[in-house]
Amino acid sequence: MQIIQDISLTKSLCRSLKQEGTLGFVPTMGYLHEGHLSLVKQSVKENPNTIVSIFVNPSQFGQNEDLDTYPRDLERDVALLKECGVEYVFNPNAQTIYPSGFDTWVVPEKLASVLCGKSRPGHFRGVATVVLKLLNITNPDHMYMGIKDYQQLRILKQMASDLHLDCDIVACPIVREADGLAMSSRNSYLNPDERKRALSLYHGLLKARELYEQGERDCGQIIETIKSIIQESGGRIDYIECVDPLTLQSISEAKDDTRMMLAVYFGKTRLIDNMALKA
Ligand code: AMP
Repeated sequence: MQIIQDISLTKSLCRSLKQEGTLGFVPTMGYLHEGHLSLVKQSVKENPNTIVSIFVNPSQFGQNEDLDTYPRDLERDVALLKECGVEYVFNPNAQTIYPSGFDTWVVPEKLASVLCGKSRPGHFRGVATVVLKLLNITNPDHMYMGIKDYQQLRILKQMASDLHLDCDIVACPIVREADGLAMSSRNSYLNPDERKRALSLYHGLLKARELYEQGERDCGQIIETIKSIIQESGGRIDYIECVDPLTLQSISEAKDDTRMMLAVYFGKTRLIDNMALKA
């Protein structure tokens, strides 16, 4: 296993790996769980070489967000990646990625003006910028990303198309705990009571699917149903929306591919989840 901090070393490594065939890339912020590992396993299966980045990107955290407390455990992450057959980890420090004088940003516009982009101003500017930088450093053929972060995935696919990137972005399904809670590094913040209550996200989404299956087409009604399930559990709703899967604009009449998107606080922990209306 090679753990590399340096940009030019990573660039030359990736250049030589590409001589052996396609290169898969999985960007992460570490503290890996089965959700991350599902992307890694898919990349390992589909490419002769895979590189994983572990970088808690400061520029995507707001001033009052959890950058300082974000969970980190590099040793454990490396052991998990080894088990998956990964041989290369890019683990730069913040100074390497944002040296003094850094001044150029990728600013997604419309797609970043809704949902999480509204509640977390500047978040997707940080995400898009770091991902473009990581792509420029690793130059992979395929980048694997989770549908768990649906808006992020949509924004990065748009960026890849808008900026003529050669990398194909592979969307991977949401991995859930046995009881249905979407896996997230931030689940580690939840106390046992919050952890139980957080299940209402999944239950709300499933109930909405059931309503749709029974013929409900009014997004207002669908949202109300999810809302009441989540509020009953004591979750503080940031947003619940039914959106067009491509434009991410709110819609009123539900269709098969309509995406239900939500962000909810349990205590101080903000969780996101999403699901298509039709199973
Ligand atoms: P993060 O470390 O949170 O930046 O996530 C790194 C990648 O893992 C992103 O593409 C996420 O969408 C993906 N990911 C995180 N949680 C899950 C999950 N539960 N299922 C599938 N992918 C996930």
